[in-house]
Amino acid sequence: MSLKLDDPVSKLKGVGPAYSAALAAAGVDTVEELLLQFPVDYLDCRREAQRFIPERPGLYAARVVSVSSSRNFRRRLSTIRLDLSTSFGPVRALVFNQPWLLRQLEKGGRIWVFGRVDTTNGNAVMPAPRIFLEPPQSMVPVYRETGGISRGRLSRLIQVALTAVEWPAETLPDWILKKRCLPGLRRSLERIHLADKDADDLIEPYFDRFRYIEFLVFHLELCLVRQLLGNIPRRFSYPRPTDLRIDLEGRLGFSLTSGQAHALNEILTDTEKSTAMQRLVQGDVGSGKTAVAFGALLLAIQSRFQTAFLAPTEMLARQHAQRAKRVFGEVAVCLLTGSTSAAERRRIEARIRDREPLVVFGTHALLNQRLAFPRLAMVVIDEQQRFGVSQRAALYGKSRGADLLVTTATPIPRTLMLALFHDLSVSTIRDRPPGRGVVLTRVLDAGRRDAFYNWLADRLGKTLEKERVPERVFVVLPRIRPTEPSPDTACLEIEGRELEKRLKTYGTALLSGETPALERERLLADFRCGRLQVLIATTVVELGIDVSEATVMVVENADRFGLAQLHQLRGRVGRGRNPGQCYLIRSEAASERGRQRLEIMAREHDGFRLAEKDLEMRGGGEVAGQRQAGCLDFRFGDPARDHEVFLRAREDAKQILIADSFPTPWLKEVILAMRARIHRIHFS
Ligand code: ADP
Ligand code: MG
Repeated sequence: MSLKLDDPVSKLKGVGPAYSAALAAAGVDTVEELLLQFPVDYLDCRREAQRFIPERPGLYAARVVSVSSSRNFRRRLSTIRLDLSTSFGPVRALVFNQPWLLRQLEKGGRIWVFGRVDTTNGNAVMPAPRIFLEPPQSMVPVYRETGGISRGRLSRLIQVALTAVEWPAETLPDWILKKRCLPGLRRSLERIHLADKDADDLIEPYFDRFRYIEFLVFHLELCLVRQLLGNIPRRFSYPRPTDLRIDLEGRLGFSLTSGQAHALNEILTDTEKSTAMQRLVQGDVGSGKTAVAFGALLLAIQSRFQTAFLAPTEMLARQHAQRAKRVFGEVAVCLLTGSTSAAERRRIEARIRDREPLVVFGTHALLNQRLAFPRLAMVVIDEQQRFGVSQRAALYGKSRGADLLVTTATPIPRTLMLALFHDLSVSTIRDRPPGRGVVLTRVLDAGRRDAFYNWLADRLGKTLEKERVPERVFVVLPRIRPTEPSPDTACLEIEGRELEKRLKTYGTALLSGETPALERERLLADFRCGRLQVLIATTVVELGIDVSEATVMVVENADRFGLAQLHQLRGRVGRGRNPGQCYLIRSEAASERGRQRLEIMAREHDGFRLAEKDLEMRGGGEVAGQRQAGCLDFRFGDPARDHEVFLRAREDAKQILIADSFPTPWLKEVILAMRARIHRIHFS
């Protein structure tokens, strides 16, 4: 049977309707997509460990001394407890949610376990090891569970696909493969999935092929966007105001910091050019980017043009619209979101059609609607975290010659900035509004959790008596409910509910992405005015929520979060008169890297330096294929970590486009499709 890469997975032997539906739901619909499900890790089982090395995972041969199991229905957790004897002494292993293993493990049986041994309190314990009933061969790939298909099953399907598939012609031209030392498609996939057991070269370079292709496509698109949309002529011009800054400061009720004033000046200069502004304002959380954006809007409104302010969430759009009423006046501000009533929406749309000068607040989705904005002169996109080229092309296209201002709190390192944005001007706000101290940051061990919440309850009671202004606290938990692969991670449904009861006297509520928009709105309003003092939430509170009385941020299982995310969370407190405090609770089984991140958080408060640390920690040694939360939406590569590959792909993309011929059929298809898409976006 010949199997093509773009055949549906259902053509594979052993994939029935149920499996193919499950795979499709997880986005795996073709054979190619299946083969692109790369291992997230490899277990190095080439040799057995020579002794217990704390923190370093290893393979141990063991004999089962006793087996017992238990179930915790509350957590939906089943645990098998194994007492093992190894040549280095006894080890207790805990195996979660694999009840079927019970049948296969018997007293006296010989097994192999791969994992990390923890010897901190005298006993050797292995939390969540991989169990092998046969001695494992060399390296073992670890897949992510996909669409409810177990990791073992996925691995077997991939192996079947690798032998059945008919390999297509090479997609990259010869000169690139040679110059960049890139392996072919087949060889790369076979190595990554360890189909070739005898090969002993490094696996990592094989990932480069996929990173390279991804970067190449990215740069091709970036170059084409530049060629086609490079300089969009400005649609509207504004007379240069003499006192915009003073006017703005009067409306805001505070003076701009010098960083804010500088950014505003750069905006003014942009608007005097003949091409439309395309500017990115980056600045740490709380540096006051919104105030600057309001300045840009004010400029356009004063010339009686229309403006749009797009926020990443409905909650933020509302919050900004509230603030904006003070700056632009009640009448000029409208809010258009998913929950706006049909009647209200019609009213707003009529006003837009009638060319009224308005500031329309909404979510990013507003751009995709077929809404005619006859006088749209200035568009602000707030907290844009992702900078895919196609997103940017769409933005430029949609705003059709309007001035565009994008703000972000995700600092982008300089080298990347140059590669990505030489067509986009960047303003950086490095200072903060006066009177903002740093947020005191403490790391707590999970063991002190209980004592901590006692202290917190006590403190909430005391400040209420003393200050009469209720103190506001965020508690952030990583999950909504227990989920694989770490069912013991704190979640709203269990720890959240417990805390809700425990701190009830102070007014508590649970908030997550699943909370309906209107209820979320009500909860936030209650939290803002102090009727609720404790908001127990998932990371929905990460972005932009601005409650100036919030002073305490508690993060459970804080080691599971990335530096950027922790910094965003910490930025939610200490935004007002009173200094903020941040308590990072460390999981019992925190990894070495997780611990390091928390230590960095405790001593580093500058968002830009944290971003650099983040890069340092990512570089080298990280497992390939693992997704990183970065400023770009790449699947395989990370421009920071794979900087060399990124730059090479850029050079080659330019060369391909300059040559203006198509080196391979695949590249021809890619380039033509891109051109068509960019044209459609811009000229439709
Ligand atoms: P960002 O969007 O950069 O995270 P915001 O624009 O939301 O920050 O500003 C954070 C808070 O600081 C807001 O409450 C805002 O009113 C206040 N603020 C901004 N700029 C100043 C300033 N120059 N002086 C005093 N307060 C400021
Ligand atoms: Mg903001």
